[in-house]
Amino acid sequence: MGTLYLVATPIGNLEDLSPRAVRILREARLIAAEDTRHTRALLNHFDLHTPLTSYFEHNKLSKLDAILAALSLGDVALVSDAGTPAINDPGYELVKAALQAGYAVSPIPGPSAPVAALAASGLPTDSFLYLGYLPRKSGERRAFVEKVLDAPYTLIFFETPHRLLEALSDLEAVLGDRQISIARELTKLHEQFVRGRISEVRAHFTETAPRGEFVLVVAGAAQAESLLWSEATLLAAIHQKIEAGQKTREIAAELAALSGWNKKEIYTLASQRR
Ligand code: SAM
Repeated sequence: MGTLYLVATPIGNLEDLSPRAVRILREARLIAAEDTRHTRALLNHFDLHTPLTSYFEHNKLSKLDAILAALSLGDVALVSDAGTPAINDPGYELVKAALQAGYAVSPIPGPSAPVAALAASGLPTDSFLYLGYLPRKSGERRAFVEKVLDAPYTLIFFETPHRLLEALSDLEAVLGDRQISIARELTKLHEQFVRGRISEVRAHFTETAPRGEFVLVVAGAAQAESLLWSEATLLAAIHQKIEAGQKTREIAAELAALSGWNKKEIYTLASQRR
């Protein structure tokens, strides 16, 4: 009896494929991949020659029997195009079917865009609610976000570049001008974090057209208030950064993401202390 391995693959940087993931991909009898061409490029890079079969959104149910048959003969590795399989990617139905048929299912952990974005967001990480893609249409999006208006957890969403500005408007309209951290192009050459209030981040992407892949991490309801630093704490941090030789603009941007204070307020306070 084989094991179904869920192998996380890089979300941009190929160095993020773990040595264990490489070994499992080499030793598996079969790799089930969301896009075989995409995965073949990854396998070529690591000089791996394991047979591949497709397992994607539209064949995921018809493929179950074939993959279970392969599992009866040996290990199968499931990969998606990027990140962790089954997290907004095909996998859930296969995991369920494999468990029902009595096979072991084992994760080979690694990159996952929502977790990477959360970890570096500067927002509370003790509890979070991952909600996948925001709905495409504004009305549905607002209704969707409304449901989590009072949720006291950090919220994580995916959004595409061409809907980012509209989505930020809707988030602000429903949730208020909360703290947000936008992770763009994680692990890639142009990795970027834009942190601040939703209105500030929207202003940024109005000036600089959004390109690439995005994860939105938004402060939860209870966090919006608890995030606000006292003035004394903020002044101490400003003082420390001035002493360290940082520019006023940098200080304002960095502390806005952490303190819950507005960038302009911090800029003014920092300028007065020079
Ligand atoms: N299973 C994947 C994972 O664990 O990361 C998520 C798959 S989901 C279909 C793809 C979405 O994840 C993209 O549209 C984007 O919102 C986000 N994403 C993937 N790679 C990213 C990256 N390098 N930087 C920022 N966001 C990324």
